[in-house]
Amino acid sequence: MVKKGDMFYAWTSDAELAKRAECGGAVTTLLKYALENNIVDAVLAVRKGADLYDAVPTIITDPKELDQTAGSLHCGTMLLSKLVKNYLGGANNFRLAMTVKGCDAMGLYELAKRQQVNLDNVLMIGVNCGGSVSPVTARKMIADKFEVDPDTVHKEEIDKGQFIIEYEGGHKGISIDDLEEEGYGRRPNCRRCKMKIPRQADLACGNWGVIGDKAGKATFVEVCSEKGANLLKAAVDAGVLKTEAPNPKGIVIRGKVEGAMFKLADKWRKRDFEALGDGRERLAKIVTETSRCIKCYACIEQCPICYCVECSTKKPYLVEPGTLPVPFMFHLIRFAHIADSCVNCGQCEENCPMEIPNSLFMHAQQCELEQMFGHVPGVDMELPLLALVEEKDERARLAATGSDQIFDIFK
Ligand code: FAD
Ligand code: SF4
Ligand code: SF4
Ligand code: SF4
Ligand code: SF4
Repeated sequence: MVKKGDMFYAWTSDAELAKRAECGGAVTTLLKYALENNIVDAVLAVRKGADLYDAVPTIITDPKELDQTAGSLHCGTMLLSKLVKNYLGGANNFRLAMTVKGCDAMGLYELAKRQQVNLDNVLMIGVNCGGSVSPVTARKMIADKFEVDPDTVHKEEIDKGQFIIEYEGGHKGISIDDLEEEGYGRRPNCRRCKMKIPRQADLACGNWGVIGDKAGKATFVEVCSEKGANLLKAAVDAGVLKTEAPNPKGIVIRGKVEGAMFKLADKWRKRDFEALGDGRERLAKIVTETSRCIKCYACIEQCPICYCVECSTKKPYLVEPGTLPVPFMFHLIRFAHIADSCVNCGQCEENCPMEIPNSLFMHAQQCELEQMFGHVPGVDMELPLLALVEEKDERARLAATGSDQIFDIFK
């Protein structure tokens, strides 16, 4: 019997798939098993596009095509959850299995809270995530720091704190810490991210903790739900997936690595948020940076929290149309509507043509709101605090305290 909380080393029985896969092919095997056995109608995963820096989200209904999606693309910075809402009808009418990084899983939960995705129809195979690197940064970093032509690289990986490349003629690794001190490395939001093992998925799979003869050849799987337990058991019973108990030392190492990643994320949060300053100083910085905005709506389009058919930022009485710089109200509306639920996925920054650090601003606010009210977005179906406030009670509370503000950013 397999149950929530169980842990395994797992790998595929398919020798060809094992060659293509990142760490033994358990993830692809589980997705394939689910599709072949009518547990789901389709799979959403990621495959290599034009080159290593081009990660393409792919919907697959023929199990034979799944092998194309094996392997980890660390320059794949897209968010899969919003695609489920925008292009797959929120998985309302069919059953979908998908690979999810921490931010993908968090985005799915936030969309589900807003009735934009039907989680009952989604099977989430989580992958641990140390971070992803923007394709533009990766190319520049490989040319400048590794002194290698990015087009000759055929494999990249992040292992033991290094960004490692294999290219025609050799391989090289440089410490991620050193790269990040010089402005390269992972995306800024990834440096601050603490969703390293996505336990809100049905299974959480990764290489941390796989030691001994299975290192690099198996994935460490943590069972996180009954749905995940059933899938894993069925795939093992069918003989397509092999498992063994994890090495106890590996479990300890996995815990230590996760702890070290949390500390690193705390370091980056402190650094990034302190650099923003406090109160008026912070507000002034945000106003200045956002004054470059051209109101292209890319941030709203990509954000997993933005789902409204009638977006307030498009109402002329709130944001005057056709004016540059764009009135600050545009950004205030987003801060007010989203900050409590921001999952720090980085999409609003990554896709901003004016290179405004939107996700830094939003994440800084989310962390403060989390400290004040204890609501953690993206981990479960708990509704954000503001959704739970009864207007009459809240007005009475504010009147009794003599304030009209829940928190005072102008102090
Ligand atoms: P495979 O059978 O090779 O399947 C890999 C799956 O990942 C496929 O479904 C593929 O579509 C999907 N995928 C590939 N790239 C992306 C992407 N960018 N976004 C979403 N899905 C993607 N594990 C750790 O223990 N520590 C880490 O620090 C770590 N960092 C990772 C960072 C990234 C960006 C990714 C994608 C994965 C990371 N992993 C990490 C997980 C690890 O690399 C393996 O994916 C995992 O061990 C499963 O191995 P496998 O052989 O079973 O997967
Ligand atoms: Fe991974 Fe977190 Fe970055 Fe998402 S935000 S890619 S989960 S490190
Ligand atoms: Fe403005 Fe950037 Fe958002 Fe476009 S993506 S609306 S430029 S903040
Ligand atoms: Fe992601 Fe930005 Fe939306 Fe936060 S505000 S969830 S970082 S797109
Ligand atoms: Fe909805 Fe506000 Fe996002 Fe517009 S900015 S889509 S109104 S949450």
